Amino acid sequence: MADLKEYKRDKIDSKFGKIVIDRDLCIGAASCIAVSGVTFELDNENKVIVIDSESVDDDMLFVAAESCPTKAILLFDKSGKQIFPK
Ligand code: SF4
Repeated sequence: MADLKEYKRDKIDSKFGKIVIDRDLCIGAASCIAVSGVTFELDNENKVIVIDSESVDDDMLFVAAESCPTKAILLFDKSGKQIFPK
């Protein structure tokens, strides 16, 4: 089973309700951290964790998810529908 880690996003003005990291897919490339260092950090297994799911705005969050070479960052809307990757 995939090693998925979920992070709720309660930001009122955001269309995203949840960020999910697929730890099996994350290769520690850190492109997401280059885009949004306030949101993502590598843990001691060289896998990304979300340290702050709220501060980043939707556009930057989307760019960060898009920047991941393995599509390890999944974005869901407030109703739980997956928005990225499609
Ligand atoms: S860009 Fe993707 S592979 Fe690289 S650290 Fe972030 S989630 Fe992991």
